[in-house]
Amino acid sequence: PTLRPEPLPDDPLTEDRALRPQGLSEFIGQAEARANLAVFIESARRRGQAMDHTLFHGPPGLGKTTLAQIMARELGVNFRMTSGPVLAKAGDLAAILTNLEARDVLFIDEIHRLSPVVEEVLYPAMEDFELDLVIGEGPAARTVRIELQPFTLVGATTRLGLLTTPLRDRFGIPTRLQFYTVPELNEIVRRGARLLGVPADEDGCMEIARRARGTPRIAGRLLRRVVDFALVEGDGRLTRDLADSALTRLGVDGIGLDGADRRYLSLIAEHYHGGPVGIETMAAALSESRDALEEVIEPYLLQQGLIQRTPRGRMLAHRAWTHLGMAPPRLPGQ
Ligand code: ADP
Repeated sequence: PTLRPEPLPDDPLTEDRALRPQGLSEFIGQAEARANLAVFIESARRRGQAMDHTLFHGPPGLGKTTLAQIMARELGVNFRMTSGPVLAKAGDLAAILTNLEARDVLFIDEIHRLSPVVEEVLYPAMEDFELDLVIGEGPAARTVRIELQPFTLVGATTRLGLLTTPLRDRFGIPTRLQFYTVPELNEIVRRGARLLGVPADEDGCMEIARRARGTPRIAGRLLRRVVDFALVEGDGRLTRDLADSALTRLGVDGIGLDGADRRYLSLIAEHYHGGPVGIETMAAALSESRDALEEVIEPYLLQQGLIQRTPRGRMLAHRAWTHLGMAPPRLPGQ
């Protein structure tokens, strides 16, 4: 489970602190998003105003939180962090909003999981920097309007489709994060090895990069585990052979798929002749939540051309059969 791209529950921000890029110039990859953000940050600074609300969407571990922190640092303002599921009541959000200083960055992770009452509070806050609070109950209840300091909301979501339209429309800067290329991940691994003070061969870093599932968080975790093996079973140097044997022992295959990915592919191959099979059926058969399949497992399999989504369900693509070392079933007439 430590190789999954989700943050570990107990340490969402501390786990990779040593490897987290601190500034936009240290941030590798996402060239387009980075270039645009650099302009919007500089413009906000020159105007002395809060930067526009920004929405990052894309699979876990691609750098949404990191970019939000970088924005705050480059804007020279405070960074406050919370998440959709944590904000249970309108008052929880109100307490945070009223404590913001001018131009601060408020980061709301998993923003698609905000409750409707909390979302209602957020709309006027985002739009007019105002808070409408209901004080008291029954006939004595009254609404008070509180002026807020102008702030920048940075939302992050793995599921853009689950955001309500009014919320989505209130973000001036929607930004999609992509899976990283192998050369980008290679650079991230090399930087990580340097920061950890581990001597690393070029093709040792490349081996980790190729098997990191397009995801910096996974690259960082694989790097740490390979370094463990290098220290205990090698001479401390990160070589290709060492990376290969360590990753294989950790259940990460040659194209970076882990056990959960392979179980997903094997299920469709062995039990459904390549599909199509519905997502709910898959979730039940794999004992995984539908959300986990859709947010974590499928995006990379889709990006790698291993599966296809059709109106009738998921199907294996030709490449998946090759990867599993199986022959695709013959269709009638072929
Ligand atoms: P998300 O919020 O999208 O789940 P994070 O911002 O928490 O992802 O990133 C996960 C980890 O990956 C970070 O701790 C950081 O160490 C690393 N990371 C993310 N993006 C990059 C990058 N572009 N370069 C180097 N490391 C990165």
